[in-house]
Amino acid sequence: MLIDLRSDTVTRPSPAMLDAMMKAEVGDDVFGEDPAVISLENKIASMFGKEAAVYCASGTMTNQVAINVHTRPGDEVICDSTSHIYHYESGGTAANSGVQAKLLQGDRGRLNAKQIEENINLDFDWLTRTALVSLENTANRAGGSVYTFQQMKEISDLCRVKNLKTHLDGARIFNALTITGDKPKNTGALFDSVSVCFSKGLGSPVGSALLGSKEFIARARRIRKRFGGGMRQAGYLAAACIYALDHNIARLKEDHKRAAAIGKTLEGMPYVKSMLPVETNIIIFTLNEKLDSNAFIKKLAEQNIKAVAFGTQTIRLVTHLDFTDDMLTEVISALKKIK
Ligand SMILES: *Cc1c(COP(=O)(O)O)cnc(C)c1O
Repeated sequence: MLIDLRSDTVTRPSPAMLDAMMKAEVGDDVFGEDPAVISLENKIASMFGKEAAVYCASGTMTNQVAINVHTRPGDEVICDSTSHIYHYESGGTAANSGVQAKLLQGDRGRLNAKQIEENINLDFDWLTRTALVSLENTANRAGGSVYTFQQMKEISDLCRVKNLKTHLDGARIFNALTITGDKPKNTGALFDSVSVCFSKGLGSPVGSALLGSKEFIARARRIRKRFGGGMRQAGYLAAACIYALDHNIARLKEDHKRAAAIGKTLEGMPYVKSMLPVETNIIIFTLNEKLDSNAFIKKLAEQNIKAVAFGTQTIRLVTHLDFTDDMLTEVISALKKIK
């Protein structure tokens, strides 16, 4: 049995999800005529208390469309130095929108209002115009850390006073809400736009949604099309996402429980030098000098377990829908065998 802990994106649709996909009522979504896509967009928008949503091919696309709509070329987006929009979107902020990132050092990926305030440029011709603040919750590269509602609210309040747009990269927002117990609507109210991924912990094969006001989403639809993201009978995919929203949110706590068990095992291992606190479904740890990432990944692969390197000495493991308790037992025993 192969156990894949590289990402929560490796899940495959369950028979019940596939069944929902096969039964989807579809149409041409570029003409706005796909009932399943429309139904998904309405459902996710109303969950977060937003007026509208647009279904996109990926979370990279929803983030990039949002940045494009919120900014003008030459502007700046404030984000954490570990953020996905900076690291993992192929330079899209610069290439697609002509926007530069002002990288701040947050607390495990989480910014605070004070440090943002200190980094908003004054309105001089020679300074870059600060246009947007983008937060990530949970923060992937920072170990799946979670913002409290209060932390996000302080940032949101500041940005409103300072006339900055706010975007939430909520690729794993349901993992965060599972921890805080907050309602999606309360989080939605804090941001001008929210990106939600269905293809991470929720276990859909494809897609993310971008949420915002009617006017914002109308503009986002045009940019999605410009980026080549207008899809036709996308309802087959949207049906999987509707299924995921109905069935796969409540179970995220299981992923967190299994991640915590792996974290606990790793804590006692001599090859682990340090580890980020395991708050959700992501485990990031640094190896001591005797073992590098490549060697560690090879030792895991020999025991049929896949992981990814997050640097020469750093490893990431992610738990997900297709990772069971039996697999957890195997992983724990495999980790104990590594020298
Ligand atoms: C995965 C991820 C995305 C989107 O990734 P896609 O693979 O393009 O769907 C965006 N932000 C974060 C934090 C992510 O982890």
